This record gives sequence, C-alpha cells and structure tokens, in this order.
Amino acid sequence: MLRVTGNFRDSGYTVENLELFRGADTIAAARALADCKVVQLAPGERIEDAVRARLYIVLSGVLEVETDGHAGASDGSVIRILPGESVGEQSVLDDAANLDAVRAVEDTRLLVIESGLAWELIDQSNAVARNLLRLLSFRIRAANALLRRRQKLGEFYRQLSLNDTLTGLYNRTWLADMLPKLVMRARTQGSPLALLMVDLDNFKKFNDTHGHLIGDAALCAAANVIRDGLRPSDFAVRYGGEELMAVLPETSAELAHMVAVRLCQQMREAVLFPDMRVPMPHLTACFGVAVLGPDGDEMSLIEAADAALYRAKDAGRNCVSV
Ligand code: GH3
Ligand code: MG
Ligand code: MG
Repeated sequence: MLRVTGNFRDSGYTVENLELFRGADTIAAARALADCKVVQLAPGERIEDAVRARLYIVLSGVLEVETDGHAGASDGSVIRILPGESVGEQSVLDDAANLDAVRAVEDTRLLVIESGLAWELIDQSNAVARNLLRLLSFRIRAANALLRRRQKLGEFYRQLSLNDTLTGLYNRTWLADMLPKLVMRARTQGSPLALLMVDLDNFKKFNDTHGHLIGDAALCAAANVIRDGLRPSDFAVRYGGEELMAVLPETSAELAHMVAVRLCQQMREAVLFPDMRVPMPHLTACFGVAVLGPDGDEMSLIEAADAALYRAKDAGRNCVSV
C-alpha cells in the first residue's frame, strides 16, 4: 500500500520542476493539481496498481521501471525515473492498466494524477499535450531500440543452438529440423538428395596417442576439410562424437560418390597442425554414400548412409562405400 502523505498543495513541491508542465501556465497547473495526492514509497517498495490508469510524477527519490514486468531483466529494459519525470502516461492515454513493474530505488515521493484530471490537463494546455507527445516519442524510440537489441540477441542464440560449439558445423538440432525439409523439397522438385556419413578412423587411438586436446583440434581440422570441400549449397553437420555428415541437395549418387572420394583424399592429405614440431599425425576417414530412395524418408536415408559407412570400415578404412 502506498502511504498518502498529504496533497500537492501542502507538499512544498512546485510545478516548475515537473517535465510534464514545462512551458505550461504554472499557476493554472498548480491550481489544478492542488488536491492531488502525494504518496511515499520506501526503498524496494512497488506500485501495485495494475488495474488503475494513473500518472505518477516523481517529486523526490528515484523509481525503476522494468518495461516488460519481470524482475532481473538483463538486457537493458530497466529504466530509471528521476525527479520531475513521470510514469503511467501511456496507460492514461489508452486507458489500459499499467503492467510494468515499478519500484522505488530509495525513499521516493510521488504525485498521483488520476486519469480524469490528466485528460483535463491535456484538454486545457497545449504545452502539456506537447510534452506528453515528446515523452511518448522518446519512449517509443527506446522500446524500438530494445526490440532491435532483443531480435539480434535472439538471432545470435538461435545460431548458437544450431551450430556445434567445437567444430562450428551444424549440429543434430539443425539436422532434425532441416533434413525433413530438404527431403520434402527433393520430393516435390523431383531432384536427387545425397547424404555422406563420415567417421574418423581409429580416432580413439589418435586420442590415446596425442591426447584429447590435440584430438579436439584434429576433429576441427577434419570438420574444416568437409566444410571447405563442399559447394555453398551443401551442408556440413557434426552428427555425433567423431561422426560428421554432408547433406548434398540436387546431387546424384554418382556425383555424391565423386565428392566422397575427393573428400576422403583431402582428409588423408590434410595438414592438421602446420606449426607442430612432432611427427605429423595423420587422419583418415570412412565415407558412406546414400541417396534418397523413391519411397525413402530422412530416417531411411541416414540408415542407408550408415550401412554404407560400416561397409567402408569393413573394407579396411580410409575409403568410400555406397
Ligand atoms: P573406427 O575407425 O572404427 O571408427 O575407430 P574409432 O576409434 O574412431 O571409433 P570408436 O567409436 O572406438 O572411438 C571414437 C573415438 O572418438 C572415441 C572418442 O573419445 C573420440 N571422440 C568422440 N568425440 C570426440 C571429441 O569431441 N573430441 C575428441 N578429442 N575425441 C572425441
Ligand atoms: Mg564413430
Ligand atoms: Mg571412428
């Protein structure tokens, strides 16, 4: 509950310092505001006033407004309202409840202007109307800036959630979302869709020999070989541990096989660590090639590529199988 300390007439504050009345007839304004209540908020105390449309002007102290009504917002949506400034003007104008969370930072005194009186002031004074317009314009700009910041942040996190943090390739979340769409597109367009499943050879031994950190770097180098060896319209994915994948839209079985053979060679010849003085560790991989069958879906496509991959392992590794 807000404690009423008296009315504006007896409060000792004057109209001159209130932004809303800048340039207005201050004598007329003081007369109109004389019976308005002045309330007191303790530090941390909130204005619990979700039903009423009212204007509050800070006479002394500081208010903090969280513009989307939740505590702990970390993206700059908290604004401070200083003496002479107001909150609630928007809810007065559209006669809707003020849902922003408003709380006092320190001992704060507020002048309360009920909606009816606020409208009378607007009707009677061009200066008040102009001040309100300026204030609203400022608020809209601030809200737009906040929205743009959030959109950028949202895009940033969306990207993060679709990419593998170690290799930067697309991850399983991306695959689960996109592969069905690529399958659907291939079906409706009647175009081929190929998938390469890639598994690094003897990578456990590589880790055991060189350590997991070098293993991580080698995995990144292998991921780069796949990514850099594809067309811009293809997609490189980290399927799991040391299993990578390439999704090749509009690619026939023959072409996909050629791509896999080329990637297999590039993997074998890749210079993993140019500045290492230890003997150059080498990395090879097996490639399983599959294309979308006439009645196939994303599951059968992955299964077929996986089965081909096992055949490549059985054939002695460092090779491609269909
Ligand atoms: P194969 O030729 O049959 O594929 O043998 P492999 O050793 O590669 O296969 P296995 O499945 O036995 O081992 C996979 C290894 O890959 C074991 C695991 O520690 C390693 N690995 C998986 N993810 C990562 C990773 O993120 N970083 C590192 N450094 N190693 C990884
Ligand atoms: Mg594996
Ligand atoms: Mg392996």
